[in-house]
Amino acid sequence: MTTILHVDLDAFYAAVEQLDDPELRGRPVIVGGAARRGVVSSCSYEARKFGIRSAMPMWEAMRRCPSAVVMPVRMDRYAELSHAFFTILGDFSPEVEGLSLDEAFLDVTASERLLGDGPTIARTIKQRVRDELGLVASVGVAPIKFAAKIASDIDKPDGLRVVLPDQVIAFLHPLPMTRLWGVGEATREILASMGLSTIGDVARYPVNALVNRLGAATGHHLAALARGEDHRTVVAESETVSVGHQETFDDDVDDRGELAVLLLAQADRVAHRLRESNLRARAVVLIIKYDDFRQITRRSTLDSASSDGGVIARTAIELLAKVTIEPCKGARVRLCGLSATNLEPRDAPRQLGFDEATREKGERLGDTMDKLAAKFGKATIRRAVHLVDPDDD
Ligand SMILES: [Mg+2]
Repeated sequence: MTTILHVDLDAFYAAVEQLDDPELRGRPVIVGGAARRGVVSSCSYEARKFGIRSAMPMWEAMRRCPSAVVMPVRMDRYAELSHAFFTILGDFSPEVEGLSLDEAFLDVTASERLLGDGPTIARTIKQRVRDELGLVASVGVAPIKFAAKIASDIDKPDGLRVVLPDQVIAFLHPLPMTRLWGVGEATREILASMGLSTIGDVARYPVNALVNRLGAATGHHLAALARGEDHRTVVAESETVSVGHQETFDDDVDDRGELAVLLLAQADRVAHRLRESNLRARAVVLIIKYDDFRQITRRSTLDSASSDGGVIARTAIELLAKVTIEPCKGARVRLCGLSATNLEPRDAPRQLGFDEATREKGERLGDTMDKLAAKFGKATIRRAVHLVDPDDD
């Protein structure tokens, strides 16, 4: 039997701010853009008591809690602690799959004989995160990813929930069906209209009827999850820290041009965050999720590390050219994103390439754009990019 841990740091960005400034401890802290159109990136549990949540517009958060302290995002500091966090996780298993800076799956099946059973490893990880990083982790232990992920969330903050193999069904079934992966607003409405409100309701419903209403892919996917069947394994990535951006569409997209334009905008945003954090990336990953939930990633290593939006965009668009996109079920795109990985500090020593002058120009252009944007607002600054056919570049 497999033992999977899902480890998730509590209110990560806000917790780091409270760690670094003791004055902020015990107070409502919001991390995010302070500008009029800024949003909440993270908030402390003290702030959550006022109903503040991630992704909420900042003006709304301030309306709910005018006394909250707003801190800017310090991605370089979070990346540093994230690195230390993943170093700890790596001591418990080589099978670590990072989902974001502060969240990962671990397959500890092979470690149990040496390090103790799943719950013991979970407790040890929590203790080390507390002692060595000064942060709090919540952990879920379960035989499948789906249950482990929910288990880490359910007793937050400072949670530890263990779901033994023979408890998976009893754990999942009373939960609301919105906890099932892949249930967005549209699917939720359909399930609700069928009178299904819990995961157990979905599990007991005839699969044929689910398929009739939701289509084959979604119907079978939800039926399997609801019965505690999740065959996805923990996929270790060589590097886990990345800066990325992705968007889910209201309507599925099958137009490459539309996706390329989106990637350009995403690349500029990612490049901006890299420069803000004084980082460069050595690899670019394109993420595509199709309308049948199939997700693929394509990756390309750059000739030299970069924080140039143009380079990142070009690389992502080249990757996009090699991906199947068709106007038919299963080949339309529901989500598109890119992430910059293999990060290194911008002042890291590095080999000079023959295109050094061009590359530096690209990064300086980025710096200039950042300064102008800071001064005049983002809307005034638009990079003039020529969309070239990747095949004749
Ligand atoms: Mg977290």
